[in-house]
Amino acid sequence: MDITETPAQREVRERYTAWLDDFLPDDYLARYHEHRLDWAFRRAHQRDAFEAGWLVPQWEPGLGGQGLDHLETLTIRLESARRAAPKLPNIQGVGVVAPGLREHGTPEQIDRYLVPLLRGDEWWALGMSEPGAGSDFGSIRTRAVRHGDTWVVNGQKIWTTQADQSRYATLYCRTDPAAPKHRGITCFIADLTAPGVTIRRIRSSEDSLESFCEVFFDDVELRADAVLGAVDDGWNVAMSSLDHERDMIWIMNWVEIERGLAHVRSSMLEHRRDDLLVDLGRRLADAEAIRMTGYRAVTNELRGERSPEFLILKLFGSESLQQVWELAIQAAGPGAVTDPGLLLEDFDALAATLYGGTSEVQRNIIGERALGLPKG
Ligand SMILES: Cc1cc2nc3c(=O)[nH]c(=O)nc-3n(C[C@H](O)[C@H](O)[C@H](O)COP(=O)(O)OP(=O)(O)OC[C@H]3O[C@@H](n4cnc5c(N)ncnc54)[C@H](O)[C@@H]3O)c2cc1C
Repeated sequence: MDITETPAQREVRERYTAWLDDFLPDDYLARYHEHRLDWAFRRAHQRDAFEAGWLVPQWEPGLGGQGLDHLETLTIRLESARRAAPKLPNIQGVGVVAPGLREHGTPEQIDRYLVPLLRGDEWWALGMSEPGAGSDFGSIRTRAVRHGDTWVVNGQKIWTTQADQSRYATLYCRTDPAAPKHRGITCFIADLTAPGVTIRRIRSSEDSLESFCEVFFDDVELRADAVLGAVDDGWNVAMSSLDHERDMIWIMNWVEIERGLAHVRSSMLEHRRDDLLVDLGRRLADAEAIRMTGYRAVTNELRGERSPEFLILKLFGSESLQQVWELAIQAAGPGAVTDPGLLLEDFDALAATLYGGTSEVQRNIIGERALGLPKG
């Protein structure tokens, strides 16, 4: 892949940068941590990005985009990363639910749900993990039983990010218990305000992070038109929705790695930590390797090939991210414990090797799918 910027890429990058300059306050980077905790600011960023066509640049106008091609979209994502643009407040809505809804939804579902989701007016949660069914999604036990035009749901979800603030969830239920594990699962659009839904927030050590919840379903009734995709085909809905997330995660990780590296450099200068130069060199090389592997993955995709690099990028990106923020803590020295912004970054990085598939599970997938090793 030729990584020199084309005139078309430069033109969209400059338009995007001008928009971002307009939106962001002058002291944005200097007060990044405060802005990160400012939900109204992050909501405003999502809404304005939707209106201006920078939210999902490859989609058409009216759906948060402007019909950009693959490379132009990558340019915008990397630029947004480089500028540390505000994180979307309901990231799983835009990153996972929206592409799944677009791919599997009926015209009526798309018409009803997609724009409010993209504008950030209605937040969405992902109802996948259950106690005993996290990595092993095929083991979910939440049941949906059909009675005429209605499905009745009973069961429990866990680690459901922002369920307490979301209006809807994509809810995965077992609909055919006799089918093999990966079949007989159906995805539903569940209204989290419906009778029979109980949401409990899980207490975490850091109040300012996105909330984690347990969600209980007791005889919750869903209409037949709440099914997303085909009945018993929820596995495919989940996998294709998560594919979009995995394709984006490496860029998200790379952004945070770059920000972490900037932090390390300034701390090392301030505290004269030349002893950390070798570690810094390793982490810089990792960041560059991630970027180049990302380009290779995109090149394969442009050729119409599904790239095994995406599997490696999730694992390598999330582990490098943790190492960089650990190094940032080391470089800051004892002062790290009194820097809430730095501690938040470090805690946040810890989660990266869990969500979207743990590192262990990712290694299994690489072994089986990329290297063709026998199943463990
Ligand atoms: C920040 C964050 C946000 C999340 N948001 C959501 C959300 O919105 N919705 C949702 O549904 N879920 C969410 N999750 C849950 C996440 O998907 C699960 O935590 C993840 O899938 C792991 O499942 P588990 O926690 O049940 O661990 P388990 O699957 O019980 O795994 C426990 C340990 O065993 C290892 N392990 C498991 N199976 C294997 C294997 N076959 N081989 C080797 N090792 C194995 C794992 O790597 C892990 O170390 C979120 C998690 C985090 C951290």
